[in-house]
Amino acid sequence: MRKTKILVTLGPATESVSMIETLMRNGANIFRLNMSHASHEWTRNVYNHIREAAASLNMDVAILMDLTGPSIRTGDVASPWMLKAGDAVEFLTNETLTPSLSYCTTVNYPGLTSDLKVGDPISIDGGMIQMRTVSITGSRIQAEVLTGGEMKSRRHINLPGVAVNLPPLTQKDYKDLDLGVDLGVDYFALSFAREPAHIQHLELLLDQKRSTARVIAKIENQQALDNLDAIVIASKGIMVARGDLGSECPVEDLPIIQRRIIERCSYHGRKVIVATQMLESMIENPVPTRAEVTDIFNACIEQVDCVMLSGETSVGKYPDRCVDVLHRVLSRTEQSYPAGRFATDAPLKTNKHKAVKSAVLLANSIPGSKLLCFTKGGVTAHLLAHQRPEAAPIFAFTPNLNVSRTLMSARGVFPFVMEMGSTPGKTIDSALQVLRDRGLVVTGDPVVILSDTLHEDLLIDSILLRNA
Ligand code: PEP
Repeated sequence: MRKTKILVTLGPATESVSMIETLMRNGANIFRLNMSHASHEWTRNVYNHIREAAASLNMDVAILMDLTGPSIRTGDVASPWMLKAGDAVEFLTNETLTPSLSYCTTVNYPGLTSDLKVGDPISIDGGMIQMRTVSITGSRIQAEVLTGGEMKSRRHINLPGVAVNLPPLTQKDYKDLDLGVDLGVDYFALSFAREPAHIQHLELLLDQKRSTARVIAKIENQQALDNLDAIVIASKGIMVARGDLGSECPVEDLPIIQRRIIERCSYHGRKVIVATQMLESMIENPVPTRAEVTDIFNACIEQVDCVMLSGETSVGKYPDRCVDVLHRVLSRTEQSYPAGRFATDAPLKTNKHKAVKSAVLLANSIPGSKLLCFTKGGVTAHLLAHQRPEAAPIFAFTPNLNVSRTLMSARGVFPFVMEMGSTPGKTIDSALQVLRDRGLVVTGDPVVILSDTLHEDLLIDSILLRNA
């Protein structure tokens, strides 16, 4: 009955059906296919492995495809450079030019010469190497190394505080998107979303391709933070992409940024995922650091919807233990702090919002109660989750498998696929029977029931209170 969901990135360490089953048994709710590192063949195979594992365990999971987005990268270097402070480096946005410095590589983004100004910072490889722009002439950028390090081929470049004019999606993303739609993934994560128009562009494409997948915007730089409220409103959910955020923004700002994003998602009623380095040390070690455990605790009491594992499970040595540690820390935290930190103060726009809020207040006021929700398109269940019930779990019954999967990301929602009965009473009885069979309710438990779909003339948006 853990409320905070666990999102697990799959990779070479976790691609087999048996490992995916183990991760699910340990608590994984959503799997992430990271297109920055995955071929189409690998993605198809692993997608099928996930669905196979879920079928064999008779449990459902959701699948998120993370689109690479327009990342800026260096070109190839013949052998790694050992850069030290004071060295001069040249970046060429036109690969036909002749290098004028011995440390010279290409960059995959021609617009870099117009986005950058002299004095702007250039951060490479997640901040491992730091430089300052010294000159920009035609297609040549020269920079001075401030913090040295080993420079290898195709390194990721961050430009802290620089507004970049990259398009929302690259040619690779369009191909990956077609694959994701064809496979039927449940979510797309949009890397480097910087404006609401980027999310609207992806949603329009999904509509045209008749996909019902939901879009999660990854907040990765200052430009996105400048447009935060508009991006939150435009998307179904937000990922606090702490890896890139930590390179693009002063690292001491990162916890404040995380808190601000969670608070804005709470206000606007959108999902929020905290990502990256939750258990980084467990890539190599079998136990977490005390600081990592406390980071998980903090995300949990801030009532995020999901926490995410990346390298820990894609390439780490202890992927199954990582999921187990997350599960134990989250469960323990929820026992001690069921109400958490942020109560949503989003305006109650419609009667549906008011009905949902009333149902949650009723459940909060009855110790031991459960919320039971019947939902066709998932809206009522998502709204219930946004109101962050204190202790009551939300059991959401829907006839639609896709809807059930999109509910996997919602805090405190436990989705079930079930056809509606011929009368409201029969539908409720069937759902309660499913819950009793699984030991999720016992006879006599108080149950607050909300429906957007039962029998439209009778129960739409009405609240019932009865015993299981
Ligand atoms: C991040 O930057 O934290 C992140 C989740 O994105 P990626 O893994 O694509 O770098």
